[in-house]
Amino acid sequence: MEQKVFFIKTFGCQMNERDSEIMAQSLAGYGYVEGMDMYAADLVILNTCSIRAKAEQKVMSQLGYLRKIKEKRADMKICVAGCVAQQEGVRIIERMPHVDLVIGTQNIYDIGALLETSTSKGSQVVTDLRNDYDIPRFLPELSLPGATVSNISPTPSFGFRKFVTIMQGCNNYCTYCVVPYTRGREVSRKVSDIVDEIKVLVESGVREITLLGQNVNSYGKTNQVDLSNENYNFANLLKDVSEIKGLVRLRFTTSNPKDLTDELMRCFQDIKNLCPQFHLPVQAGSDEILKRMNRKYTIAQYTEQVNKLHEYCPDIALTTDVIVGFPGETDEDFEGTMNLLETVKFHGSYSFKYSDRPGTRASEFKEKVDEEVKSARLARFQKRQDEISLERNREYVGKIKQVMIEETREDGSRGRTGTNHIVHFEECLPFLPGDIVSARIYFAGQHSLKGKIDS
Ligand code: SF4
Repeated sequence: MEQKVFFIKTFGCQMNERDSEIMAQSLAGYGYVEGMDMYAADLVILNTCSIRAKAEQKVMSQLGYLRKIKEKRADMKICVAGCVAQQEGVRIIERMPHVDLVIGTQNIYDIGALLETSTSKGSQVVTDLRNDYDIPRFLPELSLPGATVSNISPTPSFGFRKFVTIMQGCNNYCTYCVVPYTRGREVSRKVSDIVDEIKVLVESGVREITLLGQNVNSYGKTNQVDLSNENYNFANLLKDVSEIKGLVRLRFTTSNPKDLTDELMRCFQDIKNLCPQFHLPVQAGSDEILKRMNRKYTIAQYTEQVNKLHEYCPDIALTTDVIVGFPGETDEDFEGTMNLLETVKFHGSYSFKYSDRPGTRASEFKEKVDEEVKSARLARFQKRQDEISLERNREYVGKIKQVMIEETREDGSRGRTGTNHIVHFEECLPFLPGDIVSARIYFAGQHSLKGKIDS
């Protein structure tokens, strides 16, 4: 089989990064290897994200750019995947007829076959979102792309940490969010598929696994994932995965507070290799705005969950997502968000100005907030968050933390704590990525810590 080279550009979230790895492995079966040079590639894939405004414009300008390259290299293939592909579909081909394939978020496993079809039948658009969609069984293979060869481990490996998708889609229909329209109904992978995939990764040297889903808290709710237990849920999955021999650290993202149970929160107490770090998006600090967002919890309920989490895991590091300037947000509503920040004192947060997304209910809401007001609120929130993050980081100074090594270089080394804080070391440490060291923290900065090996 003639070897062909593909180049993949991934936009947005970890789900997309994982989907890019799945497409890479699928393409290997069609004679493709991954290249790092877009100009020299036989196939260019844009794996897109549509969570923020201007997502479509970004993709269209990239495709405009690729048109110039393709004018010189007619044999080059161009594929658009991910959420903008799902959302825009045939409109992409209409505007950019030089695109060969537009594939949706449920079609990534078939990219190889669909590309062959586009060679014989011309540009293809495959974006069907099926309610009966079942996520195919996927086992990573070391001999195929996705397995990197580096100076540290000359034999192919998957590195020391990996994301593993456990479900796709979402049924929550938060009024500002495109995900239910671009990734379809919630569907959970079978437990055995997930556990088998993680066993392959851990056997090849992976030490840390992050379980991925739009709302992992509702894993197993919409389809049976374990034939022997119809009530199998996310807490069960965490326990089963945590017992995989050789797995040092376990993390997960993302959670909707409305599906956060006591059983799940207690996992932070009971499961020793579950990292004391939790990303729990609140989005806003006002019950009125949460109702308009269709988030289905109140600030009182959210705060109670935070208190419970601290009972089960006193050292837990909480982070969150916040949207400012949601339609109808008053000064008082925004003060609610600032008060919540003071109450919880999040270790960190991702905060954004609200923007209309195509097809969402909120895009039809009337009371839009002025752009300047949004910018002022975002600046104020981020300034206070930065101050709090520094305060929280300073709590680690003088403490001894278990740090997983990520990189060692002549000019210094880097690692990460269980609470997901980056730790820098001045020296080139005699350890490998994935090794755990005891470090005494002696400095705290805005975004990272400094440590010394504690001997
Ligand atoms: S739970 Fe998350 S992914 Fe689902 S609709 Fe709401 S914001 Fe979107």
